[in-house]
Amino acid sequence: MAKIQMKTPLVEMDGDEMTRVLWQIIKDELLIPFIDLKTEYYDLGLEYRNETNDQVTFDSAEATKKYGVAVKCATITPNAARMTEYDLKEMWKSPNGTIRAMLDGTVFRAPIQVKGIDPCVKNWAKPITLARHAYGDVYKNTEIKVPGAGKAELVFTAEDGTEIRKTIMDFDGPGIIQGIHNKDKSIESFARSCFNYALDTKQDLWFATKDTISKIYDHTFKDIFADIFEAEYKEKFDAAGIEYFYTLIDDAVARVMKAKGGFIWACKNYDGDVMSDMVSSACGSLAMMTSVLVSPSGVYEYEAAHGTVQRHYYKHLKGEETSTNSVATIFAWTGALRKRGEMDDIPELMEFADKLEKATLSTIESGKMTKDLALITSLENVTVLNSQDFIKAIRETLENS
Ligand code: NAP
Ligand code: MG
Repeated sequence: MAKIQMKTPLVEMDGDEMTRVLWQIIKDELLIPFIDLKTEYYDLGLEYRNETNDQVTFDSAEATKKYGVAVKCATITPNAARMTEYDLKEMWKSPNGTIRAMLDGTVFRAPIQVKGIDPCVKNWAKPITLARHAYGDVYKNTEIKVPGAGKAELVFTAEDGTEIRKTIMDFDGPGIIQGIHNKDKSIESFARSCFNYALDTKQDLWFATKDTISKIYDHTFKDIFADIFEAEYKEKFDAAGIEYFYTLIDDAVARVMKAKGGFIWACKNYDGDVMSDMVSSACGSLAMMTSVLVSPSGVYEYEAAHGTVQRHYYKHLKGEETSTNSVATIFAWTGALRKRGEMDDIPELMEFADKLEKATLSTIESGKMTKDLALITSLENVTVLNSQDFIKAIRETLENS
């Protein structure tokens, strides 16, 4: 069979640990045999980030702006332990944080639903899509470890030199301070991405912040959403028969647990980080969730929502068998290939993405799955496969479909 031809390369961002291992197997088994795979390769593995002083991360984000579609493997965000493990020159920032800051936009995450893996929240009949603001807040913070007594102030100096100054704290001893920010422009594009996505998918949109406590910061998010909704979207929402609903974040969390699903939950950056892990694991596994960053300029970056699965990687290094779920990483590739096909008008590429997703899900539905799913499935007589054999089983399904 002739391989599917591509026109424009995908920006390929390789990553770390167990997901890097899966990445290669997915390419070898599920992509290269079927597609004349064109990618512009960036190695975001921690070793090469360290070697290039993290320049490779910036280059990969620039390439994404240029080509429009990227697919990213999970990467290590360095901490103290990684400093010694990888002998790092610096505690490099999270690549996701860097890329999101450069591309701006919103990360949409939705559970991948499959027969036999039911959400543990019984009333979630339909998927809950999380829309996570991808810019600013604690992910682009400045922090100080306060050594002892003294005054901490928040100062803004305008271009004309005028100052706004507020006291954060008169410290009587050691402590900590954190400065965070966001931009009206980024919040506006976050709001528009969410409203557009709600209209595209005909789902209600929920949004929540802590505006009662954060009367300026969080309240600005609330106000910007409300203003844009009234001015640009209210009529369209009415016509589509969908709703925009704002509430406090703690109220939203309580309501989500009782809801039936089938809506989009817009979250500030940190809330989205935490809540998407909650929603995905309640739907079976961190590996059963899609994740795509949509920038206001129409650039897309597809990734898995989970990390590098470090614990499995250490087993792999010791030569022990692993059963790591590759579904989210496969769906990152299919999302990116489908989008590339859409942009370059290559229907075969879009069809291939659909077929590979179907093959992945029907492999699981036929009872062949990784351990994380086998532990929670309602299917009987399942076969637990190792990391590699699960991907090979998907290939078999794909070739027979
Ligand atoms: P993680 O890689 O998401 O894994 C946490 C645990 O969740 C695993 O130990 C495993 O549980 C389970 N799990 C996650 N993905 C799985 C999969 N595909 N198949 C089966 N089980 C899966 O988080 P972490 O171990 O806390 O973080 C490891 C590294 O990833 C860190 O260096 C962190 O910085 C990085 N990280 C990167 C991203 C990203 O690039 N998007 C996101 C988050 C974290 P069991 O061990 O119980 O099997
Ligand atoms: Mg997270």
